[in-house]
Amino acid sequence: MTSLSDAPSHSLSTPPSELLTSGTWFRLLDAIPLPVTLTRLLDGAFLYANQAAIARSGLTLEQLRAHFRADDFYSMPLGRTALQLQLRNPDSVAQLDIALRDPQGPVVPVRATVRRLRVEDEECVLTLYDEQAYALRHQLSLNRQQLDALLANMPGMAYRCTPAGSWEFDYVSQGTLYVTGYPATDWPGQAPDFASLIHPEHREAHAIALASGEGYGIEYRLLHRDGIARWVHEQAWLVEDAEGRVVAREGVISDISARKAEEAAREADAEQYRELVQSARSIILRLDPQGRISFVNQYAESYFGYDPDELIGQPLLGTLLPETESTQRNLAGVLEALLTQPEDFPVHVNENLCRDGRRVWVLWTNQPVRNAQGQLTEILSIGNDITEQRQIQLELRRAHEQLQVQYQRIAALQNQLREQAIRDSLTGLFNRRYLEETLERELARAQREQGALSVIMLDVDHFKQVNDRFGHKAGDEVLRALGAYLRARSRSEDVACRYGGEEFAIVLPGAQLGDAVRRAESWREGFAASALEVDGHVLQVTLSLGVASFPSHASDAETLLNRADSALYAAKGHGRNRVETACAHVDDSV
Ligand code: GH3
Ligand code: MG
Ligand code: MG
Repeated sequence: MTSLSDAPSHSLSTPPSELLTSGTWFRLLDAIPLPVTLTRLLDGAFLYANQAAIARSGLTLEQLRAHFRADDFYSMPLGRTALQLQLRNPDSVAQLDIALRDPQGPVVPVRATVRRLRVEDEECVLTLYDEQAYALRHQLSLNRQQLDALLANMPGMAYRCTPAGSWEFDYVSQGTLYVTGYPATDWPGQAPDFASLIHPEHREAHAIALASGEGYGIEYRLLHRDGIARWVHEQAWLVEDAEGRVVAREGVISDISARKAEEAAREADAEQYRELVQSARSIILRLDPQGRISFVNQYAESYFGYDPDELIGQPLLGTLLPETESTQRNLAGVLEALLTQPEDFPVHVNENLCRDGRRVWVLWTNQPVRNAQGQLTEILSIGNDITEQRQIQLELRRAHEQLQVQYQRIAALQNQLREQAIRDSLTGLFNRRYLEETLERELARAQREQGALSVIMLDVDHFKQVNDRFGHKAGDEVLRALGAYLRARSRSEDVACRYGGEEFAIVLPGAQLGDAVRRAESWREGFAASALEVDGHVLQVTLSLGVASFPSHASDAETLLNRADSALYAAKGHGRNRVETACAHVDDSV
């Protein structure tokens, strides 16, 4: 359509130039990219619409003229009467904000410039629609399909409503079916009033949000068509025109029942965790980085003898932790180290303090909690009482120590018994049995190493007389003194023993005959020169000694002893108080 079929052949108004025909006027109007309409002031009947206006309406000019009035496409407060009032003077011009809508789409606020015109005896209104508002509308229609796809896939519903529509939905997205159970096409009209779908418990809160005159975000339960109330979240905002008047409310209502279920499950988990912590038969304690108690479970409270919440906020030191342990350990220092480097204390045993002053032993496991910056936020500690175990441990240690003492006593006794087995009790020298064992061994070695070994046999002269004159005890004293004398003069490798009665034998491993004789001589001399004080008497006692050596005189123990004994016998025979050496040729049988 390029012109009105019954367009007048002359100008609409006084033309600026007689050269412009009415056809030219219409072509000019058609070239304007903004919608322009000419309607009758009286009833809004369409007389003319330019190309942009026709395109926007989606109808033909014939359809517009036959079936529609301007009022079908926009609404304004007080409607046509207001428009007529605005344009009551001929050629008057006004700017109006109107809500423009088309049969399919949502309502768009536009600014219209209107001018009253007289055309062919008819009072008309020439209307130009605001460029920016139109451009916006144009843009919206361009993205409409994408937007629809987006909204359709959204698990929620988008809506728009206007005060002109008494806040009834003018538009709802396809997600409405998902959220309410009613298809988008049921709005408005077939579907129940939206307010009646809000769960009765939440209606008041929703009404308050609506009445606030601002945007809002609320959660409430919505009665779905299937009879199940589901949790939704509604985020709503208000659309204002240039003058700040509210022209629409838009919003999105999302189904959050899954999130609510998750929240409920999380809450149940948290509740279970709390129960677990509270019912645990362990001490559970949380410390802040300053060493204050931020949490204790019920068990900890009853274990330490505190009332509920009495410990919260208290410093650990001085309440549950004594400054000094009964072992004299400085626990204040331990706590300081724990707070500085908790990783060093994954497991720790220390003494703790109950409210009544009782001391208990606790095995702690400590878990530091740090934030993203690595700063310590708290220490989570789990403790178990080990007082009894520690008592048992202490008792065990004590028992062990006692055993140790007993063991040492037994060992000493055993040693003593062994000594007794090899020593003569009167003189402290080795006994004859030990001598025989040792002599065999030492001889074997001397043979192996081709070394020498000597034996000195020794007998107290006229000992019987000592007994007879001073008593047996005095005799014992003399024997004891001789034992001490021999011990003092023997070397570590020497084996001095009491061979029997007042007879002694000394084995000198490694000693050649000459050495042995010299030593025998020095003992004889030394002992004879020593004055023995016995029972207040000073005694002079002499010795007779016989010396025999390996390998000179014998190569077996028995023969060697016999040879030494023979030499001793010789010493007695030769007048006593002397040393005799065994003769190599002396017959064993002698
Ligand atoms: P001789 O010079 O010939 O060796 O003369 P003796 O008197 O020393 O020798 P005799 O064999 O006649 O006497 C040894 C005495 O030593 C006999 C015995 O009563 C005594 N006698 C042996 N053992 C002990 C002892 O353990 N204590 C005491 N007091 N006397 C003992
Ligand atoms: Mg004698
Ligand atoms: Mg004798």
